[in-house]
Amino acid sequence: MSDLTLKLCPFCKSAPRIADPSCMTLYVQCSFDECPASWAVFHIDKWNSRPVEDALRAELADATARAEAAEDQLPDEVELARRAWQDG
Ligand SMILES: [Zn+2]
Repeated sequence: MSDLTLKLCPFCKSAPRIADPSCMTLYVQCSFDECPASWAVFHIDKWNSRPVEDALRAELADATARAEAAEDQLPDEVELARRAWQDG
């Protein structure tokens, strides 16, 4: 069974619409008539597949986690630098 949560259009961020509700297989298209993605229909799995976007989101989450971990280390480094400066 396909995931029925439809992602927004990758080009214009409009909501998609079901191309033919009577069809057993779900095909979608962009609901904004001037968008190129409204000129064709896409299988729901293809529509929701965003491998580059998913990879970038994973990379962003990893970078954010590393930045937060680095921030946790920052007070120790600042304190060490302060002590080193005071000790001359
Ligand atoms: Zn669109």
